[in-house]
Amino acid sequence: MDVTTLILGAGAAGMMCAAHAGPGTLVVDHGKAPGEKIRISGGGRCNFTNMHTGPANFLGQNPHFAKSALSRYTQWDFIDLVARHGITWHEKTLGQLFCDGKSPQIIQMLRDEMTAAGADLWLRTTVGEITHDGSRFAVTLDREGARRIVRARNLVVATGGKSIPAMGATGLAYDIARQFGHAVTDTRPALVPLTFSDQRFAPISGVAAPARVTAGGTAFDEAVLFTHRGLSGPAILQASSYWREGDTLSLDLDPGDSLLTTLRAQRQTEGRRAISTELGRHLPARLVDHLAPALGLSGNLADQSDARLAEITQALRQWHLKPTGSEGYRTAEVTLGGVATDRISSGTMQSRDVPGLHFIGEALDVTGWLGGYNFQWAWSSAVACGNAIATS
Ligand code: FAD
Repeated sequence: MDVTTLILGAGAAGMMCAAHAGPGTLVVDHGKAPGEKIRISGGGRCNFTNMHTGPANFLGQNPHFAKSALSRYTQWDFIDLVARHGITWHEKTLGQLFCDGKSPQIIQMLRDEMTAAGADLWLRTTVGEITHDGSRFAVTLDREGARRIVRARNLVVATGGKSIPAMGATGLAYDIARQFGHAVTDTRPALVPLTFSDQRFAPISGVAAPARVTAGGTAFDEAVLFTHRGLSGPAILQASSYWREGDTLSLDLDPGDSLLTTLRAQRQTEGRRAISTELGRHLPARLVDHLAPALGLSGNLADQSDARLAEITQALRQWHLKPTGSEGYRTAEVTLGGVATDRISSGTMQSRDVPGLHFIGEALDVTGWLGGYNFQWAWSSAVACGNAIATS
């Protein structure tokens, strides 16, 4: 069977690309349904983009690579698309846009766009051998017990990264890249909870607090969640992309730098209350109890000198922690690293070495922050690729 374009992977990027790639497009996926990560994303409401998306929100060996695609298909383009499909949305926080309804609305929108573009979708299809004769690819596919060879001028690899293998994630994109001579940068789980071997936070599991978390020189002001296994919450997931084994994380539990002034003022009016009780007005009481021995909290607020209050608040502003690891690909939202972008065109996502070979979405060494950036990269890279194929 011959097609013009064969897209491997019916996730966010693969479906979006199929909607733009023009006639003769076939999308295949080994899953039972397309867009499974879209379905579970954003707590079931899909944080489909971020109003503040820009190249600075992405990590990768070449920080400039994402610029072209992001500027040619922006968050506002995707917002127009969801509006055309009657999908209403709201901003939750920090520019993060979520469906008012449920994530499957986004999957249905992409399926409708694919159908309108005339693209075919084969599910439960396993990808086997891939060869290239210089002008066309031949891909062996197993579908419902039947083996077929599909020939295509364009092969688009949109099989994502390695995060959440239980949902069908594989390293196929990296294998294909290596087969055709492309390098793959080191990959690691990202946007992932961090763990401690001693389960030190088990007693305060479930407690959340706003904080500034710094890892690898980059700081995020969001919530930290203490868990049985360690640390989670948006600030930690963000920091996990910058953290490496052996590194120390820095937590600032007073990111507004107001605690010292507030405690000194409270000392005038509430001096007879316990320092731990008063701190518990600004931080979760269970967290204060947990930290009390290390901070040496004792006595009433009136007993604390200016120097002592400064010492306590300083300790809360510079809490250094050394996680032992992360929860790994089992729960990571994305894979950091991927197909190296040095031999990929940033305008078309096409290989500079193998004509017709394209990589899009999370498979590439472009990783977004938490907050809708990864989907925006999937949409932008997919449209860059699809439009280039349609006009080639
Ligand atoms: P994917 O969406 O992963 O699609 C890859 C497709 O390829 C899948 O359908 C898979 O079945 C298929 N595939 C893989 N291997 C093979 C193979 N060997 N053969 C055939 N098919 C194969 N990002 C956001 O921006 N906002 C969010 O709210 C958000 N929430 C998330 C929540 C969770 C729990 C997770 C895990 C991720 C979340 N992300 C979110 C990240 C986002 O889902 C991904 O970055 C995005 O889906 C990447 O799109 P993609 O098309 O490149 O890859």
